[in-house]
Amino acid sequence: MQLNADDSKGIGIFGGTFDPVHIGHLRASVELRKTLGLSEMRLIPSANPPHKAQPETNAEHRLAMLQLALANEPGLVADARELHRKGLSYTLDTLTEIRAEIGVETPLCLCIGMDSLIDLNQWHRWRELTDVAHVVAAARPGWHLPQSGEVLEFVQAHRASGEEQLLAQPAGNILIKEITLLPVSATGIRQALQRGESIRYLVPDSVIDYIRQHQLYSDKKDKPQQEIQ
Ligand code: ATP
Repeated sequence: MQLNADDSKGIGIFGGTFDPVHIGHLRASVELRKTLGLSEMRLIPSANPPHKAQPETNAEHRLAMLQLALANEPGLVADARELHRKGLSYTLDTLTEIRAEIGVETPLCLCIGMDSLIDLNQWHRWRELTDVAHVVAAARPGWHLPQSGEVLEFVQAHRASGEEQLLAQPAGNILIKEITLLPVSATGIRQALQRGESIRYLVPDSVIDYIRQHQLYSDKKDKPQQEIQ
């Protein structure tokens, strides 16, 4: 997708396995887009995450659920580029690709949860991430910035004083941002479904309908429909 840099205040990237997408991802994306003043937040499902177990559900289903979840939220867009690429899904490759499309001047913000920030030094060529984008870490219940180590040093070396600094430059800063804390995880949702419990209000209703229709996340494929709510 070609964007005109003059029209854009900045692009946000929110990656994940989205297995399935839930209100934690959605609320974080909406709030970060608004508070950072981004014209668009792109949610990018990972095909083969390098530092996570393989997703339980295939990429086609995860993308379909994401598209349903974003249907009524114009500022949030599903971007399937990693699903079309072979090999592991390195975030640096994705950012480099998007940077080439939007030009050198448009601010690009890689948005991640605090749980992802603390593992940043395990990412492929992680120190180069801030060459192509800003990194914005959203607070997540139970996760805190480490007290020492190379991730803390990296954060301190690049730390932005506030969001206005992100839109003033195309890349290079790290911002830790407080957002509404929603202690929801895809793991918890998959476990609830396996136990036959309701996941209502944890994911959009359209996604619940999709899960039910395709009998995802349930060991018992013949489970009566009303049990998956
Ligand atoms: P899983 O439980 O399968 O590990 P997850 O719920 O952590 O999944 P992912 O798709 O792996 O979801 O996460 C994508 C991104 O969303 C990560 O940066 C993660 O930190 C962030 N994220 C996930 N859940 C929340 C939440 N409840 N609040 C804020 N950020 C979240």
